[in-house]
Amino acid sequence: MPVLSYKEADLIVINTCSVREHAENRLFGYIRSLKHWKSSNGSILAVGGCVPERVGQDMVSMFPHIDIVFGTKNFSSLPSLLMQNKTENKRVIKTNDDDRTTLQAQHVEDDSPRVFLPIIRGCTNYCTYCVVPYTRGPEISRPLEGIIKNVRILAKSGLKEVTLLGQNVNCYGNDLAKTDLFATLLYRLNEIDSLRRIRFLTSNPKDISDKTIEAISSNEKVCQYIHIPVQSGSDRILKRMNRRYTASDYLKLIDRIRKYMPDAAISTDVILGFPGEQASDFNETIRIINKVCFDNAYVFIYSPRPGTKAANYDDTVSSAETHRRFDELIGLQKNICLKNNKKMVGKALEVFVEGNSKRGDMLTGRTTTNKVVNFKGKRDLVDSFVRIDIKEAGPFSLKGEICGAVE
Ligand code: SAH
Ligand code: SF4
Repeated sequence: MPVLSYKEADLIVINTCSVREHAENRLFGYIRSLKHWKSSNGSILAVGGCVPERVGQDMVSMFPHIDIVFGTKNFSSLPSLLMQNKTENKRVIKTNDDDRTTLQAQHVEDDSPRVFLPIIRGCTNYCTYCVVPYTRGPEISRPLEGIIKNVRILAKSGLKEVTLLGQNVNCYGNDLAKTDLFATLLYRLNEIDSLRRIRFLTSNPKDISDKTIEAISSNEKVCQYIHIPVQSGSDRILKRMNRRYTASDYLKLIDRIRKYMPDAAISTDVILGFPGEQASDFNETIRIINKVCFDNAYVFIYSPRPGTKAANYDDTVSSAETHRRFDELIGLQKNICLKNNKKMVGKALEVFVEGNSKRGDMLTGRTTTNKVVNFKGKRDLVDSFVRIDIKEAGPFSLKGEICGAVE
């Protein structure tokens, strides 16, 4: 049974990410802090995901109070690992199942109206800063028919919104010797009755085909929101990152998307302080941010990851300079977000209601363009679709009033 505080739990499962050092350090601190919880009630602590895969055996010696360690490919084995831990009363470690078999067998079971569904695992792009290809291995797609069947079953038990997950969903199917299979998947999912929204994350700019853009724009259930990490606006830095596109390629892609979908929201990721990033490179990033006017930008400070190519680059940028650039970019993006959001005022937007707003005094939900909308309403509207008349805009959310239900 789920509990409100970790202190009452008899099982804690921590899912981990090793993409940035900061998250890893917080994780280690958190695991350390659970030592007391563990010794006081003899419960089970399981740690999964790519940190155990990256750190390997050291994880166990660093934290003897962990009972179960499992890798990114072993999530579905968790029940049997728990059982094994209980019956054998010793630590269980499992981090290396065959990728294709586990992904094919993966079947998400859930009766909630929203679900995240992995469709492709791993990555073969080897961006020079990124640890993912080392921890997650090569791209492996889940066969299309299995996904369709899974979503159909979930839709029968109340699923309304599916988010398709992958490091690069646009490469979905390439390892199955199929081209544009992602576009086909969108068309097929769009046919499922009672499913209302289809989202997807993440799109690598170099792999978004015209067929995919067409599929997003022409299927009414596919949300008008695309997350396309640009990482930098400088061609020199993009080359060093091994991103395999130029700033001009990226801008042309944005033009193609906006030609088909003028109202689609576009968000991005940016890395600041990548080795060798000079003031002129940063200015190019500012330029692209100003040109595209993203609906949102997730800005990360570069963190060297062991084993990656960029970790050996020695022309590092000082922390003070990186933070200065970070503050400047965040300030700029905040103004752009506000400007974009203000254009929504006066519109009646369809919102899928998720629950209480952050402050707790309102309900909150999202538009098809992934904008957060807060409004006053009764709790029984949660998990339904309502139409909201947008009255106010802030940089990170909109505020409005209910003006109708949506069938
Ligand atoms: N597959 C996606 C990104 C996945 S990782 C893509 O290629 O676009 C999510 C984001 O984390 C990346 O877009 C990048 O901005 C950031 N990131 C990855 N490695 C990083 C590192 N070493 N330091 C800082 N940010 C990093
Ligand atoms: Fe990492 Fe994304 Fe590059 Fe793959 S495409 S290496 S996941 S940043």
